[in-house]
Amino acid sequence: MNYVLVGNSAAGLFAAESIRQQDSSAEITVLTADTYPSYSRCLTTYYMAGDIPETQLFLRSAEALQALRLTVHYGCSVSGLDPTHRVVFAASGEHYSYDKCLIATGASAVSLEIPGSTLPEVFTLRHLDDVQQIKAIVAPGRQAVIIGGGLVSLKSAYALLKQGLKVHVVVSSGQILSQMLNEEAAKLLQEHLVKHSLNIVLNQDVTAIEGIGHVQAVRLRSGMNLPADLVIVGKGVRPNTQPFLTSGLTIRQGILVNEHLETNLPDVYAAGDVAEAWDRLHQTQRLNPIWPNATTQGRIAGANMSGLALTYPGSMGMNAVDFFGLRIISVGIVKPPTSPPWRTENLYLQHGSGHPTYQRLVWQGETLKGFVLVGNTERAGTLTALIQANQPLSEPIRNTLRRGKPSSVLPYLRANVS
Ligand SMILES: Cc1cc2nc3c(=O)[nH]c(=O)nc-3n(C[C@H](O)[C@H](O)[C@H](O)COP(=O)(O)OP(=O)(O)OC[C@H]3O[C@@H](n4cnc5c(N)ncnc54)[C@H](O)[C@@H]3O)c2cc1C
Repeated sequence: MNYVLVGNSAAGLFAAESIRQQDSSAEITVLTADTYPSYSRCLTTYYMAGDIPETQLFLRSAEALQALRLTVHYGCSVSGLDPTHRVVFAASGEHYSYDKCLIATGASAVSLEIPGSTLPEVFTLRHLDDVQQIKAIVAPGRQAVIIGGGLVSLKSAYALLKQGLKVHVVVSSGQILSQMLNEEAAKLLQEHLVKHSLNIVLNQDVTAIEGIGHVQAVRLRSGMNLPADLVIVGKGVRPNTQPFLTSGLTIRQGILVNEHLETNLPDVYAAGDVAEAWDRLHQTQRLNPIWPNATTQGRIAGANMSGLALTYPGSMGMNAVDFFGLRIISVGIVKPPTSPPWRTENLYLQHGSGHPTYQRLVWQGETLKGFVLVGNTERAGTLTALIQANQPLSEPIRNTLRRGKPSSVLPYLRANVS
């Protein structure tokens, strides 16, 4: 069987491993625009911070990759797919025939079209090369402006602060991490980051990046200028669907896939940031561009391509961060509708000196649908399992959770959650 995988990151690599596990004689061809072996994008900011060496970014050793017996074409940009002739085209003019094809092209960072955005020190952060270029110009005492207050922006801010830069984060909304956290949790994180010298400017837009030949400042809508030697734009991501727009694939924001991660085209699958797969909490297909969803989808798509019929249980938003020792985990729905049967319970276990400790639970009736933990994140596993169980919980169990003491829920979990 001849498999062609487009993409070599979380979804592509896990799919390749899954296929090889099922099919020892498979011909597996991987086409990737990247020039590096599979690496963790999530860790790149820790590399930028100096917390880990470059070698720790790579997902598999050379020996493990060799054992997979993949034919990998690096620097190969795919430009189209013809489902009738079962062929994938590369921009270079090459073409690759497939029996089964996986599209795992991920997403690209959204760039800003404002005056000055083409200056050489203006970056987005998606690829290892972006990090290498940023690393080459960071130096203690320099100033950086990060546009956007999402996960990648804050991870970048952390890295630059650790490198001794003066860092400003400009957010157009009224809170940081607005996709991942409710307002209270975001405020706790904001206070913590400000204590570590981060300047956070909320409710502001950047109207221009100023400088002749080089970045010198960032202009805000208020008229104020922030001095800058470099700018990182963190305005979210967009799925890499462009090469497939005329292929006959059903594409909304991403490529639509069913519960087996099949697209509408025969023997063509999609997984990872490029795919709109089932979301178990929102009960619809939607984008969920995070690492654990990409690896799970890759693994299941690969297994199904090689003959199994596994069902994807559905994505769930989940993120964990650690900034200067403050841990935060958010899972599921954290900003629910304000009307019944939705309800939230917020508990400050400690606020003041030291790290804050905070818990938010989100309920739909008696069923747990989401949570945020700040400070002490030990309960995350139990709470996640309860969300996955998706069952109404009894009052004593809800009460135990409400008080931030879920260990007595373990017998229930053992009995009810596989
Ligand atoms: C700095 C940063 C920090 C992050 N932190 C976290 C985090 O803390 N937690 C978390 O859950 N997620 C995080 N993410 C998101 C996470 O990295 C992504 O969800 C994950 O990488 C998605 O994997 P993927 O395989 O779907 O796609 P990608 O990782 O985007 O990889 C896409 C692959 O497709 C290839 N490709 C794309 N277009 C083409 C083409 N036309 N032809 C050939 N090949 C192509 C690329 O070369 C690449 O190999 C972070 C991302 C970044 C950038």
